[in-house]
Order: sequence, then C-alpha cells, then structure tokens
Amino acid sequence: MVISDSNTRNGLHHAYIALGSNLGRREKNITAALSSLESTREIETIRVSPLYETPAEGGPADQPDFINGVVHLRTSLSAERLLALCQRIEDLLGRQRSVHWGPRTIDLDLLAFDDEIHSEPNLTLPHPMMHERHFVMKPLADIAPDWVHPILGETARSILEGLGRRDWMKDLDD
Ligand code: AMP
Repeated sequence: MVISDSNTRNGLHHAYIALGSNLGRREKNITAALSSLESTREIETIRVSPLYETPAEGGPADQPDFINGVVHLRTSLSAERLLALCQRIEDLLGRQRSVHWGPRTIDLDLLAFDDEIHSEPNLTLPHPMMHERHFVMKPLADIAPDWVHPILGETARSILEGLGRRDWMKDLDD
C-alpha cells in the first residue's frame, strides 16, 4: 500500500540503496554492484559513500566482517522496479539466500525512495531497520546528512547522533 507518493518535478526519483558484502572479494562485489546500477540506462549515480568494514550484526556467529556503503541514485524507475533490479543484481553476483541473515556475496537494500512510504512485506519503505543500523546511517549521513526520514521526521545526521559512536567501524579510505 502506498500511503504517500511524491515525485520530483521532472519525473525522476531520488533513491538511496545500502550495499553490503561479507563473502568472497567483498570490495569487488560492492564495486560490481555499483557498476551494474550505474550501467542501467534509467539510473544516474549521484554519490557513493565511503566504504566501511563492520562486524556482522545478528545471524550465525563467527561470520566474516561486512563491507558496507550507501549510494544515492536518480532514476526514472519506480520503487518496485528498482528493488526488482537490485534483486537481479544480487542473483547475478551469486548471492545465495539459504541462511537467514547469513553471509552474503552482496546485499542490496532499498533504504528510501523520494519520501514514499510503503508497507508491503515485499517492499517496505523507508527500509524498516535502517534507522537502527549504524552501518547504514553512518554512510548515509556521510553523503546526505540533511536527508529527512519520512516517518520519523528526523535527518540522517540526527538519527546517527542518536545511535552513538561506533569506534569499531573502519573507513576503508583511511
Ligand atoms: P533480504 O534477504 O534481507 O535482502 O530481504 C529481502 C526481502 O525483503 C525481499 O523479499 C524483499 O522483497 C523484502 N523487502 C521489503 N522491503 C525491502 C526494502 N526496502 N529493500 C530490500 N528488500 C525489501
């Protein structure tokens, strides 16, 4: 169910996607996913965050650390089509969905799409856990500190501040 839907003036939408990998060549998997998004005709990459190495939260114990980042896109695709594209990219890059919250070659989560609010199980927007996850909010706040969560009414910067510091997040560019 779409509760609200606001398109940008020219029919292009702004979307934020979280990328994560903790299996195989993690940075290469993130770069490959970014290239697949960028090479899609309907998508323009606006900004890519720094990449961070973070311990896995939840799921099986002793998982390898994740590499996480966020990309800001402009697109003429709908939220549903963009999510379907993300899932195709996950499949192409060899993600296996056998273990819930288990290790993954690549995970693409649609964080936000304009200020749309959806509440279907197969498309929840904004992403229901984003505001609790430091590994999502940190890279998002790096590239879009003034982005406003359409339900909480709080900026990315303020949500991140509320989560406190995480000294164990390692910026791979440092
Ligand atoms: P995961 O295995 O954690 O990537 O979850 C994928 C499932 O979550 C799929 O069935 C998606 O349709 C569903 N889903 C719901 N909302 C979202 C969202 N905002 N971004 C990504 N997946 C979503």
